[in-house]
Amino acid sequence: MIKLDFSAGISIYLGLFLGCVFFAWLLSRKEKDKGAYLDERLVWFCTVCAYTYFTSRHDVISVCPRCNSYNKKIS
Ligand SMILES: [Zn+2]
Repeated sequence: MIKLDFSAGISIYLGLFLGCVFFAWLLSRKEKDKGAYLDERLVWFCTVCAYTYFTSRHDVISVCPRCNSYNKKIS
């Protein structure tokens, strides 16, 4: 059996634990980056009430859900 004193055992245990936490944090960070992608064509800005909203349709003109005014795509 391997002889190990108490402080070395504690430091190895903490090192392994922190390594696992760091690895789990890296994995969760990659998942968030995937979901953060947003298509700019879906984002609309109302010129009347300054409301930013999303539509799934790629139309030239959309209706603002807050003030019901028509907005034209600038870009
Ligand atoms: Zn509006």
